[in-house]
Amino acid sequence: MATEEKFEFPQVRSEHSLVKKHLTQEVWDKLKDGRTKTAGCTLVQCIACALQFDNQHVGIYAGDEDCYNDFAALFDPIIQEYHSVGADAKHATNMNPGDIKVSLNEDAANAVKSTRIRVGRNIAGYGLSPGITKEQRLEVENLMQEAFNQLPEDLAGTYYPLLGMKEEDRLKLVDKRYLFVSGDPNLQVGGMERDWPEGRGIFVSNDEKFMVWVNEEDQLRIISMQKGGDVIEVFTRLCNGIKSIEDYIGTKGKKFQADEKKGYYTSCPTNLGTGMRASVMLDCPNWKAEATAKGVATGKKYLQTYYDDNKMGIQARGSRGESGGETGCTYDLSNKYRLGYSEVELITMMIEGINKTWELEGEKAPKADS
Ligand code: ADP
Ligand code: MG
Repeated sequence: MATEEKFEFPQVRSEHSLVKKHLTQEVWDKLKDGRTKTAGCTLVQCIACALQFDNQHVGIYAGDEDCYNDFAALFDPIIQEYHSVGADAKHATNMNPGDIKVSLNEDAANAVKSTRIRVGRNIAGYGLSPGITKEQRLEVENLMQEAFNQLPEDLAGTYYPLLGMKEEDRLKLVDKRYLFVSGDPNLQVGGMERDWPEGRGIFVSNDEKFMVWVNEEDQLRIISMQKGGDVIEVFTRLCNGIKSIEDYIGTKGKKFQADEKKGYYTSCPTNLGTGMRASVMLDCPNWKAEATAKGVATGKKYLQTYYDDNKMGIQARGSRGESGGETGCTYDLSNKYRLGYSEVELITMMIEGINKTWELEGEKAPKADS
C-alpha cells in the first residue's frame, strides 16, 4: 500500500455507524500515525469493520488495551454515546450474589428453559483478540491451561484445544451450544480469526455448567449455565470461577485489564464495564401470537419495542444468539446494559424484566370459555 493512500482520510462505508459520526478529519490527523505498544495496532485496524461493511452500528474494536488510551479521541466519544455515560462517570463492580434481593417468580422460573451468564475478560500485557500476536495468544492459552488445572473440584473439567480437536467432539460441543464456531464476518474482518484455530479452545467442567472460551472475541469468555431459572446459582458459580482464575493469574503477576471508568476491558467497546450478559431462554408463544396479529414481522422485534418503550433494560435475541436468526417463539432475554451499572444491578434488572415478561405472557394467553 502506498504511503499517501494509507494516510488519506478513509471512506467509512457504514454511514450510520458511531465511527462515521465521530471520526472527524481532526481526529484522524491526530491518530492516523499511531501504533500501540502492546500489540502494535493502528487506528485503521481498529475501524476495519466500519470501513469494509455498510451495516455497522458501532464499527470499532480495540486491538489491545493501549488502543483505548492512545486512540481515546475516537474511542471515548463512541463509548460515551453507546453507553450513555458522561466523560467523568465511574464504573463500579459488584459480584456479591448475596446483594441480589429479587428473585424470579415461581411461574416465571418454571418457564425458563435455561440460564446462562457470561463475562468477557482479558489479561493485561497481551493484545486483545483483534491485535493479539501469535505468541501472546499461545501464552494466554498456556496460562489458562494452568489456571484450569487448579480450579476447585466443583468446577474441574477438561480443556479442549481447537487445534487437533476431533471433528466428532467439535460437533458435539457446538450442538450443545457450548462452543463457538468460525465464520462471523465481523470477527474475521476485525482480525480475530488470524492463525485460526491455533491458540483457541474451550474448557468444560465435568458437570457441564462452567465453561471458558479461550481466544475468541475476547481472550476469555467465562460462562456459567444450567437448565432452569436459578439465576443466583448460575451467578454464584460464575463469580467463584472468575475468582479462581483471577487469583491464579495473580500468582503469576498478571491481572485483568480494567480501569475505574471503563470497568473490564473487552475487545468490543459495547462490552466494556461488566463485560457481562446474563440471559434466560424463554418460550413466549403469546407474545409471538400478539406480534403476528398486529402485523409485526417477528416476536423478537415486538418484545424489544416493549422493553425499550418501558425502559426495562432488557435485550431480546433469538434462540441461536446474536448471529443466528429467530426460530420459533423461544427468546434469549438478557441485560441490555454493560457499563455504568454493577453486575448485581444488571441481574436485578434482568430478573424484574423476566417476571414482567412472564406476567404479560399469561395475560395475553387465550382465556378458556367459562
Ligand atoms: P454472547 O453474548 O455470549 O456472545 P451469543 O448471542 O453469541 O452470546 O450466544 C452464544 C450462545 O449461547 C448461543 O449459541 C446461544 O444460543 C447460547 N445461549 C445464550 N443464552 C442462553 C441461555 N440462557 N441458555 C442456553 N443457551 C444460551
Ligand atoms: Mg457472541
